[in-house]
Amino acid sequence: MLAADFLHLEESVDIVNRHADLFHLDIMDGVLVPNISFGFPVVEAIAGMAKKPLDAHLMIVHPERYVERCAECGIKMLSFHYEAARDPEPILGLIRSHKMKAGLAFNPDIPVEKIAPYLGECDFVLLMTVFAGFGGQKFIEESYDRLRQLKSIIDEKGYRCRIEVDGGVSPANAAKLVECGADTLVAGSAVFKAENPGEVIRSMRVNLQ
Ligand code: ZN
Repeated sequence: MLAADFLHLEESVDIVNRHADLFHLDIMDGVLVPNISFGFPVVEAIAGMAKKPLDAHLMIVHPERYVERCAECGIKMLSFHYEAARDPEPILGLIRSHKMKAGLAFNPDIPVEKIAPYLGECDFVLLMTVFAGFGGQKFIEESYDRLRQLKSIIDEKGYRCRIEVDGGVSPANAAKLVECGADTLVAGSAVFKAENPGEVIRSMRVNLQ
């Protein structure tokens, strides 16, 4: 939703309701990342119109402070950044205790090995394919190798952890991302800046089959 038209939010919500599977909400605090996006009033406005589950991606310091508030807003999937947590495990547990799916997000400069010890506690992992903080960035090509590595660790250990990818996702790379192990694709600009957003989502969905 970071790429949505905030002057016509209802139209953007309608696009997701009609064509996509999830609302992905990028919440930034200007501290963990060098940008501020939107806060709870906007999340609540979207929640009020949403017919698909809400997936919130917290790019903020002290994510544990906002877990309860996110649950109250009706969020179903909640991820926070490895870089924002000295010990991710209790936060993952806190999220689950509020009946949400718990996810760990990490930037392109964090080695996959650092995330590996927590994958057993995650319902999903959010592999950033650009640096968190801004929409509309170019996909980082090295992400495919990181994705394969992540997928092989999850398969090897038999974890039930889904892989979401976020950043520069478009119909041009969707098929390859799925091939490499992604099962949830987050697309912002590729959808909302398109002439026909529904068509863009459909073309990526074909790749998902
Ligand atoms: Zn995101």
